[in-house]
Amino acid sequence: MVNLRNLEYKELEGLICYIGEPKFRAKQIFSWIYKGVVSFDEMNNVPKTLREKLDKVAYIGRIEPVAVQKSETDDTRKYLFQLEDGNQIESVFMKYKYGNSICVSSQAGCRMGCRFCASTRNGLERNLMPGEILSQLMEAERDTGEKIGHIVVMGTGEPFDNYDNLSKFLRIVNDKQGLNLGMRNITVSTCGVVPVIEKFVKDFPRVNLAISLHGTTNEIRGNMMPVNKSYPLEVLIPACRKYTEETGRRITFEYTLVNGVNDSNKDADRLCSLLKNMLCHVNLIPLNKVEETGFDTVSRDKALLFQQILEQRGIPATVRRELGSDIDAACGQLRLNNAK
Ligand code: SAH
Repeated sequence: MVNLRNLEYKELEGLICYIGEPKFRAKQIFSWIYKGVVSFDEMNNVPKTLREKLDKVAYIGRIEPVAVQKSETDDTRKYLFQLEDGNQIESVFMKYKYGNSICVSSQAGCRMGCRFCASTRNGLERNLMPGEILSQLMEAERDTGEKIGHIVVMGTGEPFDNYDNLSKFLRIVNDKQGLNLGMRNITVSTCGVVPVIEKFVKDFPRVNLAISLHGTTNEIRGNMMPVNKSYPLEVLIPACRKYTEETGRRITFEYTLVNGVNDSNKDADRLCSLLKNMLCHVNLIPLNKVEETGFDTVSRDKALLFQQILEQRGIPATVRRELGSDIDAACGQLRLNNAK
């Protein structure tokens, strides 16, 4: 059985032709799927005979919300979804002035091993299929009754460790016949897998790119993020510069502030030198404390001071607004706590 949420438009056309039906039906069916219908019976301009044929070979694969946490202080909602095989993933729905946004997971678990992160503590379970990434948006729209116009791929998992499925997901959400969500409204965040960054720039030049930096020397960064051993700063930073030059787009650096590890004035100075003259923006994130990692967070004042140093040196920086802090919206923590 084929999960239709995994198929790009052309692939759906192929399936429709394969079962002996005219191509134009694919357009109707594709459009229904992304209007949010979950059974073929709801597709009222599709003949019954075709719906019955479809039922034999395909389905619309949903993921099931097993827990929803709603913030009391803002409209943030955090979902724990169960996949068909029992794996669980999480997503966060957020409301901003410019519209609704969803933070989606790209893998069940993660194998990158960043030492401060909850998502990687039990390793990688498996890659998510394109439809499973997409369903996080579809199910959140269904639950909230709201349209979602922005996606950040910043939940559990390393998107560039699941590149084929990520690419397919991007093409499906962007398809004019379906959700028609603009590439410019999507941000993908990576811990810095350089060869895939280079490929991504060519494949998706209009999608926003965010890099998890977190350290300004190979020693500091390498201690926090094992990926730095394969792709150290002298390889990562030129790749980032190249992205901005080739696309003309601003790149975002995420910098999680960890007490006594990467939060000194010296760190701020080095960060400025590293990013000098690059079209970029720094997003400072006070660490969300994860038990057992031994890392501690910084005060908001400390974060603001760090921001000031960057701004003074001409590097645009913001301290991440804390949405849903009362519901533990920190990365991977709901899933991890549920697995205990
Ligand atoms: N694997 C991708 C995307 C997922 S993580 C990446 O590394 O970019 C999204 C962001 O949250 C990353 O910048 C990550 O380093 C950061 N992060 C992970 N755990 C965190 C924590 N406990 N506190 C603050 N930020 C965290």
